[in-house]
Amino acid sequence: MVRDSGKDSGKTAQLESLHAVDVFEFARNHNEASGVLNLDAMPRMLAEVPVGAPVPQVPFAWRLSGSVTKAPGADGEREERWLTLAVKGSLWLECQRCLGPYEQALAAETRYLIVDTDAEADARPMDDDEADVVVGSRQFDLIELIEEELLLSLPLVPKHEMCPSVHDSLLTGVDGSESSFDENEAPQESEKPNPFAALKALKGDGSGSNGKGKLKS
Ligand SMILES: [Zn+2]
Repeated sequence: MVRDSGKDSGKTAQLESLHAVDVFEFARNHNEASGVLNLDAMPRMLAEVPVGAPVPQVPFAWRLSGSVTKAPGADGEREERWLTLAVKGSLWLECQRCLGPYEQALAAETRYLIVDTDAEADARPMDDDEADVVVGSRQFDLIELIEEELLLSLPLVPKHEMCPSVHDSLLTGVDGSESSFDENEAPQESEKPNPFAALKALKGDGSGSNGKGKLKS
């Protein structure tokens, strides 16, 4: 089989099944593929959505590209095969501050070094944050990788940028007397003492000056 090598990197591949992708071939051919994936194809992601939250109508978008690089090995040059997976979409999560649902935008792009075996993956010291290691297969489950990457892109502590109740009081400028806090019984964060204020108080114990700019001769 003859291929025009070199010029035509980024060939679009038609993937017959996202559950069985030959990632070795995909990388070797510098293929590209993209598509969309519904939330219900990803049970672990679906489990993150709070009960009663809207089901998103827009599917997740993904884009996969393959590449090969040369790396020095024990017996001369050896090929390293790579996948780059970009994912994008949004998911409804439960705000940990007000316990209301909100829509979280998600986007991630990860580069994966394809290895042949689990042992090889374990032996691989990937201390650079730029790439991850994945065990390749001729029947690689791309959907699982997409889901994995989306899960890793979830915020550690999901929360509104600004919770609606707070937002309302800012808009109306009232002191909360008209707010509907009791409506959902959400636990309100009580006024926490500012840790820096406490620190200041400690420091202020002394001369009242932090000594900055003092010059003793
Ligand atoms: Zn909130």
